[in-house]
Amino acid sequence: MADYHAPIRDMQFNLDELVPLSEITALPGYEEAGEDLVAAILEEGAKFASGVLAPLNWGGDQEGCQLVGDTVKTPKGFKEAYQQFSEAGWIGLSCDPDYGGQGLPSVVATAVNEMWHSANMAFTLCPMLNAGAVDAIHHHGSDEQKAMYLPNLISGQWSGTMNLTEPNAGSDLSVVSTKAVPDQDGRYRILGTKIFITFGEHDMSENIIHLVLARLPDAPPGIKGISMFIVPKFLVNADGSLGERNDLKCISIEHKLGIHGSPTAVMSYGEKTGAIGFLVGQPNRGLEYMFTMMNSARLAVGLEGVGISERAYQQAASYALQRVQGKIPGKSGNLPIAYHPDVSRMLMTMRAQIQAMRSLAYMAAAEIDRASRHPDAEQKALAQARVDLLIPIVKAWATEQSVDITSLGVQIHGGMGFVEETGAAQHFRDARITPIYEGTTGIQANDLLGRKIVRDGGKEARRLIDEMKGVANELSASSDLQFKSMGSTLGSAVLNLERAVEWVLDVFPKNPAAAMAGAYPLLKCFGLVCGGWLLGRSALIAARHIGTGSTDSFYTQKIGVASFYSHHVLTGASGLSQAVRLGEEVCDAMAYGLNDILN
Ligand SMILES: Cc1cc2nc3c(=O)[nH]c(=O)nc-3n(C[C@H](O)[C@H](O)[C@H](O)COP(=O)(O)OP(=O)(O)OC[C@H]3O[C@@H](n4cnc5c(N)ncnc54)[C@H](O)[C@@H]3O)c2cc1C
Repeated sequence: MADYHAPIRDMQFNLDELVPLSEITALPGYEEAGEDLVAAILEEGAKFASGVLAPLNWGGDQEGCQLVGDTVKTPKGFKEAYQQFSEAGWIGLSCDPDYGGQGLPSVVATAVNEMWHSANMAFTLCPMLNAGAVDAIHHHGSDEQKAMYLPNLISGQWSGTMNLTEPNAGSDLSVVSTKAVPDQDGRYRILGTKIFITFGEHDMSENIIHLVLARLPDAPPGIKGISMFIVPKFLVNADGSLGERNDLKCISIEHKLGIHGSPTAVMSYGEKTGAIGFLVGQPNRGLEYMFTMMNSARLAVGLEGVGISERAYQQAASYALQRVQGKIPGKSGNLPIAYHPDVSRMLMTMRAQIQAMRSLAYMAAAEIDRASRHPDAEQKALAQARVDLLIPIVKAWATEQSVDITSLGVQIHGGMGFVEETGAAQHFRDARITPIYEGTTGIQANDLLGRKIVRDGGKEARRLIDEMKGVANELSASSDLQFKSMGSTLGSAVLNLERAVEWVLDVFPKNPAAAMAGAYPLLKCFGLVCGGWLLGRSALIAARHIGTGSTDSFYTQKIGVASFYSHHVLTGASGLSQAVRLGEEVCDAMAYGLNDILN
């Protein structure tokens, strides 16, 4: 099984040159996060990821979690690693310093978080869900709630969970039925069952703070009748010490395809007297509050796609450099399979897509920083519009690709990929959840098309498309034929994306079903072209370094990666665009093709 080495050089390139970090550190409150500090953080993070978390990944998968009595035993080493992780301050990297965080930009935390996902995706789900709970309380909790819960959630002494899903409420949260009954002293009694709750119960922290969506007795039906509650496993006394055990428990954990080291719990609230809960913010605004945190949460899952793909790539590259099979065309000697053109193709397909996905995720994180801190209102609004457009793409494109990329990782191993001992199979199994939770790909595709493109009349999509055209023109203007070719492919891919967007804008008001039939290919096309745009920009930066005398092989590799992506991946944009624009025909075909089961 290959070790994990954080791809620090590429991370730093993205941060320092593509984002660039200097623009983020110019924002108020981020002045401290200079390049040297960030480089030191990345180095320490890399050591922790490869030295502490990565070695627990395979064992965690094999051992899994067990429900013992009413607590969940996590795999060997997880509890100790979590303590080290907390003590090192990794949980609070981008959290508010007023509550013990370090206040670093989201884009810096994004690079570090990528390392955790690569090293041990199952373990990292605990701090990832905790970040959602911290965000919710920070944005919408009262001062008292913030003081009571945030310091311990940020230090890692406690951990947080998000309780949305119920047996009948998955993608459609409007039908959440968990009840919240007003009790004395402004408290509520929570009654109901939540399913699929990540780290809903575990032995790594001394208390678990559940954020639960529930309905008040007089709540209107639908999404406007859902409220958010803090429901701690152990109630917290006024002096901050732990009080009595609340009336909630984990009644079972799921047996799953992957992420075995992460317990997925069925949680029962209020089997005796009702679990005590505390309302967050105003009644009936719980779902709206969830939406304010959605961008960060969905970015986090998209980043999981990047992280797990990188791990699978490193595993596959290591195997392909050891395994010898057959003669390599045009070469002598016993060279390993990595030299077979088809294996090189698979390795490059993995590498190029990962680099494109990483760039897009970091750009989205940087826009989150601009949207939250930019002093100019217009720039702030533009950044927010860009975040809103990019998030469903990062979430769904990077996670869908991660399934294909980790599958390629298995393929490169041949039969050894299908057996468990190399670890390639685990990455494939772990990746499979990422397009499902935090809003399935179908939900992201609808969001991109309906809320992010149609609702603003295509304004932000067109602004981004114009930026992409600028990069295509710059590439085409080069005297270097390789760059000219990249410019021509990117130009044609952008045109295909533009046609698909314009078609959707035209057809949606007249025939929404035909437009929605193309939501998935549109999202994929957008992701693919965003990747081409950012790798094209990266190639131009690399060329400038080479042009001024740099001999750093990273830059020649970057150009190679961008060029491969352009020829081998980006060319798929035209087929996807066509699939969108044939929406009416696709609807007819689906109606005929499925008429035996849909009628
Ligand atoms: C391992 C794991 C961990 C999880 N962790 C948590 C957690 O911590 N907290 C939590 O609250 N939940 C969690 N979930 C739940 C997760 O968010 C849901 O499974 C997910 O939102 C999908 O809901 P569902 O499973 O009910 O699928 P469904 O909503 O039943 O969807 C089934 C299919 O129908 C499609 N579909 C549904 N509605 C639409 C639509 N409107 N348009 C187009 N297609 C649609 C979906 O895309 C999907 O393909 C977790 C799930 C798993 C498996």
